[in-house]
Amino acid sequence: MTAVIDPQAELDTPLLQDNVQLIGGEWVPAASGETIEVINPANRQLLARIPRGTADDVDAAVKAAEQALPAWRDLNATARASLLYRWATLVEENAEVLDQLESRDVGRPHWGPSPVPGMLRFIAGQADKVHGVSLPTYSPDVMGFTVREPFGVVGAIIPWNAPGPMFTNEVAASIAAGNTIVIKPAEDAPLAPLALAKLAMDAGIPAGVVNVVTGYGSEAGAAIPSHPGIRRVGFTGSPATGSIVMEACARNLIPLHLELGGKSPQVVFPDANLSAAAPAIAAGITMNTGQICAAGSRVVVHRSVHQEMVERLAEAMQKVTVGPWHQQVNMGPLINGRQHERVMGYIEAGKSGGADLVLGGGVPSGEAFGDGFFVNPTLFDNVKPDMKIAQEEIFGPVLSVIPVDNEEEAVAVANGVDYGLVASVWTEDVGTAVRMSRALEAGQVGVNNALGAGVIGGPFGGYKSSGFGRTMGADAVQNWTQVKTISMRGATRPGN
Ligand code: ADP
Repeated sequence: MTAVIDPQAELDTPLLQDNVQLIGGEWVPAASGETIEVINPANRQLLARIPRGTADDVDAAVKAAEQALPAWRDLNATARASLLYRWATLVEENAEVLDQLESRDVGRPHWGPSPVPGMLRFIAGQADKVHGVSLPTYSPDVMGFTVREPFGVVGAIIPWNAPGPMFTNEVAASIAAGNTIVIKPAEDAPLAPLALAKLAMDAGIPAGVVNVVTGYGSEAGAAIPSHPGIRRVGFTGSPATGSIVMEACARNLIPLHLELGGKSPQVVFPDANLSAAAPAIAAGITMNTGQICAAGSRVVVHRSVHQEMVERLAEAMQKVTVGPWHQQVNMGPLINGRQHERVMGYIEAGKSGGADLVLGGGVPSGEAFGDGFFVNPTLFDNVKPDMKIAQEEIFGPVLSVIPVDNEEEAVAVANGVDYGLVASVWTEDVGTAVRMSRALEAGQVGVNNALGAGVIGGPFGGYKSSGFGRTMGADAVQNWTQVKTISMRGATRPGN
């Protein structure tokens, strides 16, 4: 249940200082001295000021990461793991403050226990399990094997929708493998990442291993993949920006992973347990105000249960309460004015495109909503698969229901978008579940669950335009390593 917190109370925490970023273990302002205002999306009030970092700050951070690299890379893997475990403990001890920071920044109500300590412990456990294989050789004089090595100094750029977990994914996995990192949080939600970085320092992770440069995407962000000292990049965000980041990586001939969002289908068969499916789908599209790349935004439903499903979805979505994060609500505002305009634009496109508006479609009014970027949970029915709202990622609480006549059509509609991040199947029949799990083009498939949740250590990432490479799980650590093949010829035996 959401805790009721005084929104006016200053969040006075030693984890955050005003207007500093982390470079080489020092908390410093931007080289330019300029700042960015971070606002509360529920009322547009000032939350904090952060440094407006630019290429100069990224350069200083890369140099610090280069200095820290040899010792960190050569520290034994078990010692690296111990430091990550200690970091996890500190995160757990500070869970409430971290949660509040993220709520203020993103505008979301309390999510329940933070996943971050568990994520950190899982990754810590991987640090000393990065290994190669032994290989057969043509001669007994030679031994062959592979080793996995870090790339060196790496970079990451993360979005604002789940800043704590995103920061943890990229930082923990990359440093577990022996890299040092320069990471830029989103300008809209940098507070939890800065606090997590402070805890990493407190845990004893050496100066320069983790560097956080704050700033705008076109300034600090763009400077990361184009810096000649960066050896690999991780990017999570929009496809348009992902493409720009990939171009920069291409110019420097460095690899990257991209996690770019989705248009996840929820495929509902006639035998599905609708009373379980409807609330789970409604929760999936309204959690974090629909600002989750995995959010199931299309319900592809068999016509025989279509009507009942729409009624159940409307009932479930109607129960979703909207308001500022500190009240007992299920859903907060959108992150900023640009995003609000975008989501409202999609709602208009749904209406004018001929979809039936069943629920929502507007902005809640009343004093509690003040100047916040609120929107009501919105349900469209009889959406055609080629409509804009059925094809493009909205990143808001807008759900489209698309009726279909059979399994073949369900697969065609579910896969008929550019994205391929998550897909869900709702059925009680194991045969349908097996066929659909194979047929759906997505990096994650959930059977009878909406967000592909419930798996420990599951790698996360996309098919098709949703990206490539994986964050989370053991694969994430492997992604941040490169393979070296060693052929080792021993001393020649006397007489040979
Ligand atoms: P959104 O439009 O939702 O903010 P973006 O993909 O633009 O999504 O943002 C994700 C992250 O990418 C943020 O940290 C942002 O600052 C950063 N970013 C934006 N533009 C660029 C760019 N040209 N180069 C590198 N990073 C960028």
